[in-house]
Amino acid sequence: MILYVLGLLLVPVLFGVVLGWYGLDPPQAERLAPVGSEAHQLLNGFPDDRLVVEIAAPPGEGPTGASVGLLWMRMNETLSKMSISFEVETIHSTATSFTTADLWNLEAATRTTWPGPGQMSLFYLFVPGSYAGDSSVIGLAYFGSSIAVFPATIAAAGGSAAVTSTVMIHEFGHELGLVGIVGSAPNEDPAHPYHSADPNDVMYWAVDTTAILSGLLGGGPPTQFGSADLQDLSTVRSTVIVLEVLPCVVLAAVFGGALAVVVYHRRAHRRGSPPLPSTSK
Ligand SMILES: [Zn+2]
Repeated sequence: MILYVLGLLLVPVLFGVVLGWYGLDPPQAERLAPVGSEAHQLLNGFPDDRLVVEIAAPPGEGPTGASVGLLWMRMNETLSKMSISFEVETIHSTATSFTTADLWNLEAATRTTWPGPGQMSLFYLFVPGSYAGDSSVIGLAYFGSSIAVFPATIAAAGGSAAVTSTVMIHEFGHELGLVGIVGSAPNEDPAHPYHSADPNDVMYWAVDTTAILSGLLGGGPPTQFGSADLQDLSTVRSTVIVLEVLPCVVLAAVFGGALAVVVYHRRAHRRGSPPLPSTSK
């Protein structure tokens, strides 16, 4: 009887897990999710406690070890993941100008790791050409876990590996919902939506384009998130999303209910048992 009840209770458990962990953001939908919409899942260690960062680049055009190391450091400072690992892919393309659709097509043909249960992923595409929409663009977050970097545009404008580091961290910041995609964003520059007005903040508005190389930054390319950014990330990270905690709530309710059934069953059994037969010698 008890096993039968426990078997029946598995149904809501499975329902809760599926609705919470898959229903919140199905892996398929995460592929084309808007920039910043994955912020909570990226920042939190639950339910996705791993992050895989995939970097795809033409031969010899990927980021330096120092750029990847700095990005990894900023990720560790902002995300609550158990593990953050990097994978590298090589791409080959003869195109020289890329629309957002072209970026997506190249990504879809290259990317091997996607967000899924227990794991988030970020994809950096080092594009072998320039951005068709604006040839001054050096970095672009174009979907919720998809980032493009344009190394040829950076090099043509006289940029260095330090600029690449800044762009990689800046676009990562957009995927975390900065500036003002989520959060209160008191540092947002009214003249440049979703960007900081502070040139010492890696989310400064000039970082997306070659404007970063036009002498605006006396102290060099910024690589740190500003205090307002970090406050917003902290708020978003600690926000409770009902669907994310639903599996835990359902599990607690089901096992609490099962325990109550067992206790009730045993008490009823004790109350209903006949008195012990008297023995006589
Ligand atoms: Zn930007």
